[in-house]
Amino acid sequence: MARQWFNRPAHAERKGGSCGSSVAPPMIRGMRVTVDAALCEANALCEQLAPEVFHVDEDDELHILQAEVPPELADRVREAVRACPKTALSLAED
Ligand code: SF4
Repeated sequence: MARQWFNRPAHAERKGGSCGSSVAPPMIRGMRVTVDAALCEANALCEQLAPEVFHVDEDDELHILQAEVPPELADRVREAVRACPKTALSLAED
């Protein structure tokens, strides 16, 4: 009976089989964003870039809606941190 190697899932082929050259899956890292309220001038630039994470209320106070940034928002949050003219945002990544 022939081996049914063709029924292996696609990810099994990418791991390199038994030759010892397996590639580890990419790590999903945690990202946490914080604001220094003393620096923030509430211009809402960060909210424009990532409204799922940042919100400036009617009293000009910035709220971090998701301090633990989901992976799908990571790039936009990094962009918001870079764009902040007051360098009020900080990121901590595991
Ligand atoms: S971009 Fe910076 S200064 Fe502007 S609201 Fe966001 S944290 Fe505050």
